[in-house]
Amino acid sequence: MALLPVTMCGDKILRKKTVKVTEVDNETIELITNMFDTMRNANGIGLAANQVGADKSILIVDISLVEDHEEVKPIVLINPKIKKFSDEKSVIEEGCLSIPDIREDVERAEAITVAYHDTDLKEHTLEIDSLLARVIQHEYDHLQGILFTDLVSDEAKKRIKKPLSKIKRRKIDVEYPISDSVDYQIVF
Ligand code: ZN
Repeated sequence: MALLPVTMCGDKILRKKTVKVTEVDNETIELITNMFDTMRNANGIGLAANQVGADKSILIVDISLVEDHEEVKPIVLINPKIKKFSDEKSVIEEGCLSIPDIREDVERAEAITVAYHDTDLKEHTLEIDSLLARVIQHEYDHLQGILFTDLVSDEAKKRIKKPLSKIKRRKIDVEYPISDSVDYQIVF
């Protein structure tokens, strides 16, 4: 098991659009394995590659530990592209391993259609809803350089201003490894 440091809000790589994956080599597979280890160690249910400092369009999701979602298999989405957002929206409180201890309501589409590549770079399309659709939208945003705190109400933005600056200055107590500088990045 290999844990990677989780990048924190304020880190530059979290604000960059990630790069398309054109080859899945051994290093990419190792990255994905380490992403699962890192996510599970931190009790996360989704993780984007730039959250571990890798500038790649890869996200993983595993919601099988969440009540009523035990049957949902872990999934790896390479080069995901959300093709369709439902008109029906829902508001749910979200959190993020890169923004510890902050939880705020976020409105998102209840259902999405997402195209992606698997680890053989074969293309697939999924039509999903509920929690899986929500987590994929959150992680997909990461790959575009967007954080959930960008999407909250103005009132919430005011409320989280100080806690966010504490995270940026590492004035936080987190039980999983975190990046030590705003420039942290894995070099392939
Ligand atoms: Zn997140």
